[in-house]
Amino acid sequence: MPGSDLAPAGDRGVLLLEGGLVLTLDDAGSAGPLSVAVEDGRIAAVGPGDALRRRFPAAGRVDCEGRVLLPGLVNAHLHPELQVLKGAVEELHLHDWEDAAHFDQALVLLSSPEGRWIQRAGIRAALADCLLTGTTCLATYGVTAASDEVAAEELVALRLRGHVTVRDVSFTPAERPGPPRIYRLHAEEALTPVELEAAARAHARGERLIMHAAETEQRLELVLERFGTTTVRLLERYGLLSPRMLLSHALYVDDEERALLARRGVPIISSPSAEMKLADGIAPIVDYVERGVPVALGTDSAVCNNSNDLFGEMRHLGLLQKLRFGADAMPAERILRMATADGARALGGWGEHGALVEGWSADLVLLDAHNPRLQPLVHRDGYSNVAANLVYAATGQDVTDVMVAGRWLVRDRRLLCADGPAIWEELARAASALYDRIL
Ligand SMILES: [Zn+2]
Repeated sequence: MPGSDLAPAGDRGVLLLEGGLVLTLDDAGSAGPLSVAVEDGRIAAVGPGDALRRRFPAAGRVDCEGRVLLPGLVNAHLHPELQVLKGAVEELHLHDWEDAAHFDQALVLLSSPEGRWIQRAGIRAALADCLLTGTTCLATYGVTAASDEVAAEELVALRLRGHVTVRDVSFTPAERPGPPRIYRLHAEEALTPVELEAAARAHARGERLIMHAAETEQRLELVLERFGTTTVRLLERYGLLSPRMLLSHALYVDDEERALLARRGVPIISSPSAEMKLADGIAPIVDYVERGVPVALGTDSAVCNNSNDLFGEMRHLGLLQKLRFGADAMPAERILRMATADGARALGGWGEHGALVEGWSADLVLLDAHNPRLQPLVHRDGYSNVAANLVYAATGQDVTDVMVAGRWLVRDRRLLCADGPAIWEELARAASALYDRIL
């Protein structure tokens, strides 16, 4: 029954997940037929099945035969309320969206009290879709009034790990209950010296910030025109470059700026599906990785991606980077780490989640390895196609089970933390009400 498995595994003693093919994706990068012990919501051990059975003789057991077991995925950039507008601005470049009158009307409606239930339906559906496709941690980014507060409530309701943004151009410190907050600067066209100064003060007091940066040539031209310099140099001028300044996209960044990002440890969030669909260009991800710039992944939004599936982002990132930098660029396991470890690092969660490590939170996903998409799956000394299969063949549909902090939130492709069918019915009702108003 929904809810019956929601108590953390540790509340009922140790739980042994055994028989699966495990990728820890930690620094050691262990992979193979291993068991994972979960206790008190945390990973108690990862090791050979026999050893863990001896160590935890009274443990409950979960048969993971035929499953690949991974750390949960991290989606570091998502505009969840736009789920309800999937397909609304097809065949349009980002800077032509403003010409789509129905899109503007929709955003106004979602921001109004009467549209709030439509906004919530979109947010809840997007988050549920993320969860069902293997995401255990995500950073939402609101674009309509009060959507961040709704996202915070829905993250808590679904028991997902997450972060939401705050749009406050004065960057006033405030205690806010719920998930951690990230201040947002939006994009070049919205920047003012006053806001940048306020952002710098917030940054100096330890806040995390995010900005859509250097996504398009138009935005680069705009910042050059207004500030006489490029986006990354402008942020450096205000002391805004650090591991706590997340840059979404970062396509139009020159050589000197990339070196600066590496020196300052600034994380990039790449959303390759959206960047392709909007014809933004191809981000220099291979170069970023070679320089040591952390790169996380995001799905961006349903209006410029149409999917919340991070497996799609992994595949597209790999294909696109090979197209630009050559077939030997960007090994599959490196891409898996972007969707897990690097996402956790970008959001300040490394040390708690992002890899399967003893003592860290038990955030993990199981995939159906018997699915024809993942066959043949070969893992032996000296050869493995598992990482390549996960990046280039798997989809979120192959995720069968999802655990966050030791709680099963998805079992056998079914949400345990919410009424799945009701979420999709509400989304359809919301979309219908919205299009009745704007078309
Ligand atoms: Zn975005």
